[in-house]
Amino acid sequence: MDERLITSSLTVEDEQIEYSLRPRFLNEYIGQHTVKEHMRIYIEAARHRGEPLDHALFYGPPGLGKTTLAAIVANEMSGNLRVTSGPAISHAGDLAALLTNLAPGDVLFIDEIHRLNANVEEVLYPAMEDYALDIIIGKGPSAHSIRLDLPRFTLVGATTRMGLLTSPLRDRFGIKEQLELYAPEDLLEIIMRSAGILHIEIDEEGALELASRSRGTPRIVNRLLKRVRDYAQVRGGGVVDLPTAQAGLAMLAIDEIGLDAVDRRMLLAMIEKFGGRPVGLDTIAAATGEDATTIEDVYEPYLLQLGLIARTPRGRIVLPDGYRHMGYVPPQQSAQQKLEI
Ligand code: ADP
Repeated sequence: MDERLITSSLTVEDEQIEYSLRPRFLNEYIGQHTVKEHMRIYIEAARHRGEPLDHALFYGPPGLGKTTLAAIVANEMSGNLRVTSGPAISHAGDLAALLTNLAPGDVLFIDEIHRLNANVEEVLYPAMEDYALDIIIGKGPSAHSIRLDLPRFTLVGATTRMGLLTSPLRDRFGIKEQLELYAPEDLLEIIMRSAGILHIEIDEEGALELASRSRGTPRIVNRLLKRVRDYAQVRGGGVVDLPTAQAGLAMLAIDEIGLDAVDRRMLLAMIEKFGGRPVGLDTIAAATGEDATTIEDVYEPYLLQLGLIARTPRGRIVLPDGYRHMGYVPPQQSAQQKLEI
């Protein structure tokens, strides 16, 4: 799935270029006004007290700027950033090694923190709460534990699935911030900034077109910008204007509201195969050949935001706008169905 353009997970090319595009300080971070305002206050207060920032958890769909915020916390607090992820820490010992190598004021970033295993989580609790590491020495009846002091650090966790976090872990974060999909005007600002850094010539109309088709996601907007730039270079006059943006996006099979082939396949399956009845996530996954987690993390949030589909207690349904977008006449809803939405 990493071959696809719409995916908001990281590809190798992204990783290289994202480094240069990543805002480094809070005042370069575009949009997310509430989160930014909260973080500004927390950071300033912690700096004033000469303490590390409280542990922070950022959650929301991929590509919205969680990793970027973690790096910003480290920069603003003048600490080093150590990056790891839930699946990468398979043993408690791996985490212990990471923790004992931290310096005071460092930021430890754990991406996909909902994927930590239970043993590793146990080690994290005293580390977060008391800056301590409990080590068991020996085996059987003679086993005893000793407590090592850790430097005062900040843990920043990121997750696309707040609901999968265990409550003891969730409760140990003093700061919890939800990132939302970006408004087109914020994406426009992000495109203009990225175009400046990458020396891409783009006019406002071209940029707006990309912004409105990027699913509210900075990672996707940056990726579309690069692809359409290629198109402009080879087929256009080198400048990303409205006609080149439109032609480039058409080539990429991204429609006028930003849906790609998978979104359309999903909507079509729900309309044609299930006749608009509520459908479970796994059934949609089987019908489209997509992974259920990807559908839930990447595709659904945007379709929900556009009001093309809805979640009901009995499953996902296509809303009238979803029918119209796919060229179908919406069925008449019964009063009961309306109540369920
Ligand atoms: P996540 O960790 O949520 O998957 P990232 O932090 O890796 O997302 O963000 C992806 C890319 O999007 C970053 O490299 C950066 O270029 C861009 N980006 C994210 N948020 C912002 C923002 N608020 N302002 C400008 N660029 C952003």
